[in-house]
Amino acid sequence: MSRRVLSAEISHETNTFSIQPTPLALYKARRYYRGEEIAKAFSGTKSEMGAHLDAAKRYGWELRQPIAAAATPGGKTTAEAWAELSGEVIGACERGPFHGVLLALHGAMVTEDRDDAEGDLLLRLRAKLGPEIPIAISLDIHANVSDAMARLSNIIIGYRTYPHIDQYERAMEAANLLQRAMNGEIHPCSLVGRGSLLEGCDYGRTQGGPMSRIIDRADQIRQKEPGIHAISIFAGFPWADILDVGPSVAVIGEGENPRFKFIAEDLMKEVWETRKEKTVPLCNLKEAMDEAKKEGKGNGPLLLADFTDNPGSGGYGDGINLLRAMVEADLPNAAFGCVPDPEAAQKCIAVGVGKEFTATLGAKIDPQTYGPSLRIKGTVEHVSDGTFTALGPMSKGVRFSMGPTAVLRCGGVRVLVTTHNMQVYDLEVFLSQKIDPRACSVVAVKSWHHFRAAFEPISRGVMLVDSGALVSMDLKRFPYRKVRRPIWPLDLD
Ligand SMILES: [Zn+2]
Repeated sequence: MSRRVLSAEISHETNTFSIQPTPLALYKARRYYRGEEIAKAFSGTKSEMGAHLDAAKRYGWELRQPIAAAATPGGKTTAEAWAELSGEVIGACERGPFHGVLLALHGAMVTEDRDDAEGDLLLRLRAKLGPEIPIAISLDIHANVSDAMARLSNIIIGYRTYPHIDQYERAMEAANLLQRAMNGEIHPCSLVGRGSLLEGCDYGRTQGGPMSRIIDRADQIRQKEPGIHAISIFAGFPWADILDVGPSVAVIGEGENPRFKFIAEDLMKEVWETRKEKTVPLCNLKEAMDEAKKEGKGNGPLLLADFTDNPGSGGYGDGINLLRAMVEADLPNAAFGCVPDPEAAQKCIAVGVGKEFTATLGAKIDPQTYGPSLRIKGTVEHVSDGTFTALGPMSKGVRFSMGPTAVLRCGGVRVLVTTHNMQVYDLEVFLSQKIDPRACSVVAVKSWHHFRAAFEPISRGVMLVDSGALVSMDLKRFPYRKVRRPIWPLDLD
C-alpha cells in the first residue's frame, strides 16, 4: 500500500541574546524552497531532505513537501516569519490525510512569540492528525529538546556527530523508524530527560571526550535493553534564555515504560559528572598572533577559528577584532573568511577589480558590542555573486550563497567581504573566490567547530580564538531570566 507522508524542514538555532531578529528574508537568503523546488534542490545531496527523498523512493511513499527553510543562526525568528513557515506545514497537513509525518527541525528555535517553536508546530500538527499518526523528527545535536517535543512526537533522532556529517544518515534513521511505525510493527514513544545544566558534553564535540563516551554507552544500553528503538544525546544550545534549555537525552521506546525514564536519567547523570570536561583550549588574540607570526612547522595553514563570532551560534559574523589583529601583525599570505557587510561588498564591487579602496568594514549590526568598524585600505582582487556548491564532508553537494562577494587584499591578508552571514566550514568558501586555503600560511574562519571537518585535514594546526564577540563561553555574562534555576554554571558548581 502506498503511503502518503508529509515531509518538511524548518531549521533555526536561536541565540536569544542577539539583537538582530531573523525575518523571512534571512531564510530566503540561506534556504527557502517550496513544493517541487525541494526535490530539485536536494535530490542526491547528503542532507536531511535528501534522505526524505531517498526514503520515499525506498518505501514507495507519496511525499508531500510544502517547505524546506533554514536561516543562519541568529536572533529570534519574527512572529510574522513563524506564522508563514509553520503555516506552510499546517496548511499542507490540512490537505491530507497522511499516514505519517517526517520533519527535519533543528530543535533550538525561538520566535518573538514562542519560546518553543518546534513544540508549537508539533502541537498544531497533532491537533490536526490526532494521536495515532506517527510523527518522526530529526534534530541537531545542539537541540534544546522540550517536554512538548517529546510528548507530541513518536520518534526523535539527533545527529551523532559534531562537525555534523551524519545529517543524511540520522534523517534516514528517523524515516526507517517511521516506516516501521506506519506498518504497525512498532509503537514508538519519545521521552526526554534533562538535568540542572545549561551546557555540557563538551559542546557536543565527538572527536573523543565525554560526548563520544556517552553516545557509546547509550549504544550499549540500546543493544542490551529490550524495547528501545533509539537513544539520542543532545548537548543543547546554551545561548537561549528558555525553560527547556540545556543538554538532554531522548529515549525512543516501545510504548511507555518507566524503565526508559530511568535510562534517560542515568545517562544524564554522566552528562552532569563530565560537565567540566573540555577537550579544546581557547586562546586570546595575542596568543593567536604570536603563534601566527612564527615560521610554520608542518604543511598547510595555521587555522584561527573565531568562535565568539561564530554565525553558527548566532554571532553577527561582522566582527573585525581578529582581522584587525591579523592586519596589524602584517601577516604574509593569510586569508580571512568572512566579514558579512553588504554595504562594503557593494562598494568593492562598484570600485572594481584591481582598484584601491578604503573600506569601513564590519561591526555595523551591534557597534556597542562589536565596534568600532575597521577602516582599512586594500585592493579589490576578485568579485562574484558568492554562490558555491559545498565540497563537504558537511552538506556535500548543497548549493550555498554568500551573496555578492568581494576579496579585498590588505597587505598580505585577503579578506572575503560578503553580503550574507554564514559559518565557514567548506573549502569552497575560499576556492570559489580564487583563494586556495591550502597555499596560505594562516587561514581565519568564523566558526567554532564545523570547520574542522574540511579544514583540519589541510592544516598544520588549529587555534580557537576569543575575539570578544557575542558568543562568549562565559555564560555568566548573559542576563538569563527564564531558564530553570538553580542551574550550572550560573548557580551550581
Ligand atoms: Zn549543531
